[in-house]
Amino acid sequence: MQKRVTILGSTGSIGTQALEVLENIENKEDFIIEALACNSNLDKFIPQIKKFRPKRVSVSDFESYKKLKNEFKNLEILFGEEGLVEIASKDTDILLTATTGKVALKPTVEAIKNKVDIALANKETLVMAGDIITNLANKNNIKIIPVDSEHSAIMQASNNDFEYVNYIIITASGGPFLNKTKEEINRANANEALKHPNWHMGKKITIDSSTLMNKGLEVIEAHHLFNMPYEKIKVVIHPESIVHSAVEFIDGSIIAQMGNPSMHIPIQYALTYPKRQKGIKTNNFSFFDKTLTFKTPDYDKFPALNLAYNAGKEGGIYPCVLNAANEVAVKKFLEGKINIEGIIKTVEYALDNAPNIKNPSLNDIFNVDIETRKKSLEFKP
Ligand code: MN
Repeated sequence: MQKRVTILGSTGSIGTQALEVLENIENKEDFIIEALACNSNLDKFIPQIKKFRPKRVSVSDFESYKKLKNEFKNLEILFGEEGLVEIASKDTDILLTATTGKVALKPTVEAIKNKVDIALANKETLVMAGDIITNLANKNNIKIIPVDSEHSAIMQASNNDFEYVNYIIITASGGPFLNKTKEEINRANANEALKHPNWHMGKKITIDSSTLMNKGLEVIEAHHLFNMPYEKIKVVIHPESIVHSAVEFIDGSIIAQMGNPSMHIPIQYALTYPKRQKGIKTNNFSFFDKTLTFKTPDYDKFPALNLAYNAGKEGGIYPCVLNAANEVAVKKFLEGKINIEGIIKTVEYALDNAPNIKNPSLNDIFNVDIETRKKSLEFKP
């Protein structure tokens, strides 16, 4: 049976690569590109529409909507949050959430309610509302398949069966500041933080990789995806980014998933799951290529990791606060207004000043998100 695929964020890094995957997959006819959505990058979006011929598209604002209306006479064009919700939840079998930030949250919730499987590339969705999303997914009997390389690795290594799993081991490259001193890190500007050694990704996630906040968010993501207590999630620094993560079983056996860094593989796995297919020709890892090294994270140099663990363990609204404050602070850092330490201080401040709400509703989450962003924007570290 053909799978109808909808992509939110098709002009972003993951979205673009997902289209490359669908273009190069061996059994192309297994998939229909049902709908695409982007924010407002029409220079990239219009050629995508011409090439992939989705049945429906959605853009964020009315201006872009009008421009598309002029360009495509016979295409269903939507816009705004309503547009996203509409294409995410109707006439689709799998939704790839490849936007950054919170815009994917509502469309994801509505998609799950309409029994659409989720290929999840937007980790904020689980960080902000992990309990709500996973409960809803269980209730509607839909699958949430991670696209994040580490979580894809864990899913592949465990075969998605956690009965005998004792630990999840998430690997981290350590980012561009791995071997820098704390002073050097705090002197670094956005350009230096954006030089990721192994992965080419969007700006926000690359900065998060430099602070290890990305790994912290991934710990929270893993907790929800695999229903694992935080005590059973370990982070290991692995600068070569060949082992993408591993699971340790109760009998002491460890299974890791490996490969040269490429997002094509986890994206494709999420789309073909539980099957596999031949896809884009990859430069496969050879065991004779390089030496693999591993070490413990330096929690003093990278305090974001513990902030995330603590927010996750505390639960309730704290992961949402962590995420919102971090997003605002990263934006300030990219604009040259604060340094890396400023990002950490902003997140700490937001967490210290947020009253917790146990079992928050989606509304609570949206309100706290807005409130935290406001406070974090005003805060001067
Ligand atoms: Mn990742």
